[in-house]
Amino acid sequence: MSEYQIRAKDCKCCGKHVPLPTVLKEYNGIPLCPTTFSNVIEYKRIWVSLGSRPHGNIRKHFSDYVQQIVESTIDKNEDGSLQ
Ligand SMILES: [Zn+2]
Repeated sequence: MSEYQIRAKDCKCCGKHVPLPTVLKEYNGIPLCPTTFSNVIEYKRIWVSLGSRPHGNIRKHFSDYVQQIVESTIDKNEDGSLQ
């Protein structure tokens, strides 16, 4: 196994998809493959542009893992609106 294949396991979604990433990004100290990283950035961008938690018809395009990362790192009120 090459170095990047070992490091790829740090991205929790990467046990499930092939090919493994050749580089890892980092979001709030969380190692992520570029695909998941891009999805986190996009989901957060949508959340910010709406000013509140996106509805299910948007959320369905993002994995539970992506949603969980944004949920835990975005500054929001309990109802999902931004602070
Ligand atoms: Zn991944």
